Amino acid sequence: MYEAKFHGKNTYKAFNQSMFDKLIKNQTTLIDLKKAIPANELRLYYQPIVNLKTKQIVKAEALIRWQHPKNGLIGPGEFISIAESANVITEIGDWVFKQAIADTKLLQKGFTTGFSVSINVSPKQLESYALIAEWPDYLHNQHLPKNSLGLEITEGLLLETNPVINDIFQQLREAGAQILIDDFGTGYSSLSYLKKLNADYIKIDQSFVQNLSLYSEDMVLCETIILMAHKLGLKVIAEGIETQEQSNLLESIGCDYGQGYLFSKPKPIEQLLADYQSASPFKKKNTQTTSSVS
Ligand code: C2E
Ligand code: CA
Ligand code: CA
Repeated sequence: MYEAKFHGKNTYKAFNQSMFDKLIKNQTTLIDLKKAIPANELRLYYQPIVNLKTKQIVKAEALIRWQHPKNGLIGPGEFISIAESANVITEIGDWVFKQAIADTKLLQKGFTTGFSVSINVSPKQLESYALIAEWPDYLHNQHLPKNSLGLEITEGLLLETNPVINDIFQQLREAGAQILIDDFGTGYSSLSYLKKLNADYIKIDQSFVQNLSLYSEDMVLCETIILMAHKLGLKVIAEGIETQEQSNLLESIGCDYGQGYLFSKPKPIEQLLADYQSASPFKKKNTQTTSSVS
């Protein structure tokens, strides 16, 4: 049934061996995944986000990995949707939230007190919101500087009209969290929701950055998104920057921050801190003297 729906509904699909294999694989993944939190197998990797003007690392995005006992390190593409389908995502998301807060404290010691970390929040996590409802109090009690934690949500979530969820996000903002709109431009973009949710940042999706060149359509789109965001009082982070040219073009149209393989791949917190400590004294000094990195 799911295969038929996936292929445009109004059709039929016979159950075959490859579907059976996939079903078994997903079930096995799910069984293992339920054990992953108590077995301490989940990891957060951090991808630096740089200020495009100063080139300093001022933020990082937390990206989940699973250190599977038999299959090695697994990326989120292979298990997040399975976790979402079985509602394991709420527990995983809660672990991410708490681990990221603990790591933020270490990163603020290693970099600057203004360093901020953002986590990804799946719309599915909000379907049963008992755990998320506890986040505002938890965050408040951590006594982190304001704006230390960002919540990356997709435009799909913006369509969420549940007043309870809106209320939780409002409380999270009051506890010092910021809201980032992830993958901007790929979903159903509703500008009025941007205002309603009081977002702080827009993250331009990597599909606009990949083929960026002077006079290209993507360049016009990026420029327009940046202009609009700034007029609404939001800052902009461009994702998936792989080349110096992309970085220069984005900087030339006023993009505030950049993230991508050009600067760094996601890495474990220990490595991020160690790389920073071993960076040239000049680069380090510059970062440490930056008092505000909002
Ligand atoms: P995302 O939030 O859009 O994260 C950006 C993805 O792009 C990451 O993949 C990152 O490694 C990758 N990336 C970064 N720079 C570049 C670049 O220059 N070029 C290219 N080609 N890719 C780049 P990753 O880590 O595999 O994560 C994939 C997706 O999984 C994320 O997309 C996010 O939607 C989801 N995800 C990751 N961690 C979590 C989590 O803790 N919770 C939830 N719910 N979802 C998560
Ligand atoms: Ca993200
Ligand atoms: Ca993204």
